[in-house]
Amino acid sequence: MTHDTTDTAHDTVKTIAITGASSGIGEATALRLAADGHRVLLGARREDRLERLAARIGAAGGTAVFQRLDVTDAADVRAFVARARSAFGRLDVLVNNAGVMPLSPLAALRTDEWDTMIDVNVRGVLHGIAAALPVMRAQGGGHVVNIASVGAHEVSPTAAVYCATKFAVRAISEGLRQESAGDIRVTVVSPGVTESELADHIGDSTARRAMVAYRAVALAASAVADAIAYAVSQPARVDVNEVIVRPSPAAR
Ligand code: NDP
Repeated sequence: MTHDTTDTAHDTVKTIAITGASSGIGEATALRLAADGHRVLLGARREDRLERLAARIGAAGGTAVFQRLDVTDAADVRAFVARARSAFGRLDVLVNNAGVMPLSPLAALRTDEWDTMIDVNVRGVLHGIAAALPVMRAQGGGHVVNIASVGAHEVSPTAAVYCATKFAVRAISEGLRQESAGDIRVTVVSPGVTESELADHIGDSTARRAMVAYRAVALAASAVADAIAYAVSQPARVDVNEVIVRPSPAAR
């Protein structure tokens, strides 16, 4: 067995763009990756939150810029990636984290919410890949980290459409991995229940009630950030393809 001691990509400072950085997992990921010394670009719709987060990172000695971002708008996502290049000259890692989860039984016919989940969770990820891929290819490589869910592996009542979007994120990620000529690393991080604002936007009362017990045992968002940081920090020749992180009931 030989070891390539020149493979030091894990030691380098990277430019990392994070969608959905205004709360929950995205915010925790920004804090963790900035603390690791990386330059982070923060995107989401709530610009005031991003501004506060960038200031917090800066005050701690890190490097962060932010840009308002709606991932459902392809032009917005292209401008977001362009900002990484104008601010830092390149884009090494894109964390496609933005997501929504307005759960409901199919029979409730909340079709607008189905569309929103597809637009944010699936089209948003595709917009990110479309914007980042040419940039990463031109600079000789990059890393796409897509946040799926345990809902990408199993389906439960009220979660059919949400799970469909997360199954899609896994499928898209696997396709991207297979089509990569070794220059693009692809990681799917699939969290179990995690403390965040994700369940706050569930309008359907059945689904909302069910979530109270289901979400009683939850990971800290920083635990998911740690998994993302692990994948990002691997040497260039190591491609971490999937990580599933669930809360342990023992932590109760
Ligand atoms: P939060 O609701 O706390 O964060 C979601 C983030 O997505 C926010 O920053 C929100 O920002 C952003 N967002 C939503 N819509 C858009 C949009 N159209 N354009 C840009 N940003 C958008 O939830 P989490 O941190 O939990 O969610 C992060 C990811 O983790 C999601 O993909 C979710 O599906 C996944 N996940 C979460 C789990 C959990 O239990 N928490 C479990 C499994 C997966 P803003 O509103 O400011 O735009």
